[in-house]
Amino acid sequence: MMERCTECGSRRLDAGTYEATRVVAGRTYSAELAGFRCRDCRRTYFAGPGLARCELAIAVHLTVHGPVCGEALTWARIALGMSGQELAGLLGVRAETLSRWENDRSPIDPKAWVLVGCLAAEKYDRRGDMLQRLRSLAKPRVGARRVRLNLRVPA
Ligand SMILES: [Zn+2]
Repeated sequence: MMERCTECGSRRLDAGTYEATRVVAGRTYSAELAGFRCRDCRRTYFAGPGLARCELAIAVHLTVHGPVCGEALTWARIALGMSGQELAGLLGVRAETLSRWENDRSPIDPKAWVLVGCLAAEKYDRRGDMLQRLRSLAKPRVGARRVRLNLRVPA
C-alpha cells in the first residue's frame, strides 16, 4: 500500500473504490477501481491487478470497436506487457514496421490488428493458446519425437 501522496506528501490516504477514467484514441473509458485518495489534495491513485485488468479491458474494447489507429495499437501492446520488438517478432514483421503502424505513418495490417485484439482478449480471459502458438511459430523447434495424447472425448 502507498505510504504518502506523491503529489503533496500527505500521509492521509483513504483506501477505497474510485472512478478511474482513461482517454484513448478519442474515447473516454471509465471503471470503478480499487485505489487510494489523498484526503488533502484529492488526488487518486490506482495500482495493482485491477488497473492492469482495466487497461486490458480497454485494449479489448478498442480492438473490437476501433478506431484502427496507432494510439490504440500502442495501448494494446502495452496492455499486453510487450515491447515493440517482442510484438513485432510475434507478428512476423520488423520492429520498424510496427513502429510505423504505432505512429500512424503507414496503415496497420488488418490481420496484425486482429491478432493483437485476439491476444488482448485471450489475456483478459487468462488464457494463452494463441500467444503460445505465435511464440512457437517465431522460434520453430522440432520438439519431442513421441507425444502421448490424453484424449478427453465424451464417451
Ligand atoms: Zn495529496
